[in-house]
Amino acid sequence: MIWNLGSINADNFYLLPHLPGPGETISARDFRQGLGGKGANMSVAAARAGTRVMHVGALGADGGWALERLLEYGVETAHITLMEGVTGHANIAVDLEGENNIVIFPGTNHEITEEMIGAALSEASSGDWLMMQNETNGQRFAAQTAKTLGLKLAYAAAPFDAEAVKAIIEQIDLLVLNEVEAAQLRAATGGELRQLPVDDIVVTLGAGGCEWVSNKAHRIESYPAYHAQAVDTTGAGDTFTGYLVAGLDRGMTMPQAIDLAMRAGALMVTRHGTADVIPDLKEIRDHDF
Ligand code: ATP
Repeated sequence: MIWNLGSINADNFYLLPHLPGPGETISARDFRQGLGGKGANMSVAAARAGTRVMHVGALGADGGWALERLLEYGVETAHITLMEGVTGHANIAVDLEGENNIVIFPGTNHEITEEMIGAALSEASSGDWLMMQNETNGQRFAAQTAKTLGLKLAYAAAPFDAEAVKAIIEQIDLLVLNEVEAAQLRAATGGELRQLPVDDIVVTLGAGGCEWVSNKAHRIESYPAYHAQAVDTTGAGDTFTGYLVAGLDRGMTMPQAIDLAMRAGALMVTRHGTADVIPDLKEIRDHDF
């Protein structure tokens, strides 16, 4: 089972004739509200991959719809706390050429208490996974608690913050980075990824596939991506990570889990949207890659 300490955002999309300049007011041509946030995306991806996933997070009183939607997608929500305050959200302005600008407000994603995390993880079993990203507070406490309880820790270092990674690096079993984050981590630690005290590091390379740095086996393996007609790459990394951890949780080897995650990522980039359009196992099986 996966315990995912993660963000939940309302993604508010506004379609505009052009992006606003300073002081400009523009009337949007269309509006859509979707479920987003790296945490929610990864929970949905893991659930779509057929694993039990308990999301640990927080929503404001305005976030009931997000809870409903996570439930609908198969995510367990008993440890999502509804509290005072505003649900995390991203206001995404998109112009007719597809160019965007984004304002994010973390809201209740930064109001998660140690009591909430402790209560959730006290129900976990040794051998379960704790998955985290860098859009909530409480990661240090969660990482320490997870290790005390014998959980494995998967961490997607996004949005990247060198200090946040360094603070928990000794506890991480699986680190997932994209190409930019990998370069930032190398610069911050002044060394190579294979010198970090983490058993497995997976670096995603977009259409270039991914690389697995196995520090236990002293090996680096490259995997080419599946072919895809990309229309929107948003959420590809989150989908990849959710599927990767789910595959491992279901007993796959790392190469098997990577293969599944790359199929999910390739299918995801052919779709517009985030959590609401993450493919399930059947769609992946039926797709002709
Ligand atoms: P994002 O932040 O846009 O969600 P990311 O930068 O975290 O993404 P990527 O490296 O872009 O993550 O993508 C994750 C995985 O998805 C890749 O390793 C690859 O397997 C798959 N993928 C992404 N883009 C493509 C593409 N254009 N064609 C095929 N597969 C892709």
